[in-house]
Amino acid sequence: MPVTNNLSAEQAALAETVLNSINDGVMIVDANGLVKLANPAAARMTGNSQPSDMLGLSFLSVLRLTTGEGATLTDSQNPLAQAAVNNMEFSSRDFYLLSLQGEGIPIAISLVPSGGRSADRIITFRNIAEELEKESEQTEFISTASHEMRTPVASIEGYLGLALNPSTATIDERARKYLTEAHAASQHLGKLFQDLLDVTRLDDKREKVHLVPTEMTSAVKEIADRQFAAMANKQLTYTFGSNSGVDDKMQLGQLVYAMVDIDFLQEIMNNLIENAIKYTPEGGAIWVAVRGDGDNVLINVTDTGMGISPDNLTHIFQKFYRVDNSQTREIGGTGLGLYIVKERVEAMGGRVWAESTFSEGSTFYVSLPRISEEEYQRQLLVIQNTAAMPIGPAAGAGLTPTAASMSAGAILAAGNGTSQISTSGVQ
Ligand code: ADP
Repeated sequence: MPVTNNLSAEQAALAETVLNSINDGVMIVDANGLVKLANPAAARMTGNSQPSDMLGLSFLSVLRLTTGEGATLTDSQNPLAQAAVNNMEFSSRDFYLLSLQGEGIPIAISLVPSGGRSADRIITFRNIAEELEKESEQTEFISTASHEMRTPVASIEGYLGLALNPSTATIDERARKYLTEAHAASQHLGKLFQDLLDVTRLDDKREKVHLVPTEMTSAVKEIADRQFAAMANKQLTYTFGSNSGVDDKMQLGQLVYAMVDIDFLQEIMNNLIENAIKYTPEGGAIWVAVRGDGDNVLINVTDTGMGISPDNLTHIFQKFYRVDNSQTREIGGTGLGLYIVKERVEAMGGRVWAESTFSEGSTFYVSLPRISEEEYQRQLLVIQNTAAMPIGPAAGAGLTPTAASMSAGAILAAGNGTSQISTSGVQ
């Protein structure tokens, strides 16, 4: 069939030769979603014996997409259908194509409006089974290598720690200087391997989020309170629940609920608070707060640290990005923490961003979709028969009770879900 009436016979023949020879499936569908053109690769991948078998059919009946778990997508869940209806661009590597014979192949698929006066949409797709296999082998390799190297590095770090400890070893001052450097370097290496492991787990599409209904104020407080000792070491004042330093129009101390993956939440909070500690000089302050903000739960981690300049602020969530200035060069890091935070937050349907004033301090915000108390209770019932343990007072289960193990005198309950831990003078 002619590709378009505007082409000469020779050009049309050339276009057809190209379409027939490429391995990617190509389809043109009209504004009603009916197939106008398909190439042999498209027929082969969808399980049709020839392209003409597909002409005039609804493209959704030909291009049957499923999720990785094999669930067929309804039209409303199918982003390709939505893009075709709204005449918008779409591309993804997240779906499988189910052939007429019932075989599923992972594909990269894209839809683009043809532009101009034509209302056609052009759909291209290709089999990415081999690509995914290679990526998975690569990830596996990095993951195994990081894992294997972490153990000897931990041992080196441990022995250097013993050598530096006056009660276990005697060394002269020159040796102490060298060993201190070696100890810091081994710690850095250990953190790098841990971060690499986290990133490979993150890039591994097989890893799934496990969302459970959670009361966010208590869950975040419990995680944040665990960093008390590290804050005390730097004489930092830590306040949970107070909103100092940020917009305080919003209600604090209320019970707010969300569906979260507890492991992800811990990774997110640990990274943000570790950064707040790392990039805030001794004697500074850190605030952590959780509040309901309309349809979202908003968490903030605020510090009075070195801050981030506007040109760096736009890059800090990128993989391996580190701000490079005289202050940060002294502080170890891998540039992976905030990348992990961003991926984890987005995997739970949320958003993360930062506001900062250079030399004054920073606030990192995490916003997650909020659920009502009724929905929280309903979700608790749903998971009651599974092994998953929800977090929060209504569920009667929390994270491990670390806050309780802290010095009671150090925690000043200020009511309304607010507590302040003054670390000044705490050794
Ligand atoms: P790193 O391992 O370097 O800390 P991250 O991805 O966690 O990596 O952070 C990226 C960069 O963002 C850091 O190198 C640092 O310069 C900057 N940064 C992150 N958090 C803060 C903070 N609370 N205050 C100032 N700078 C920060």
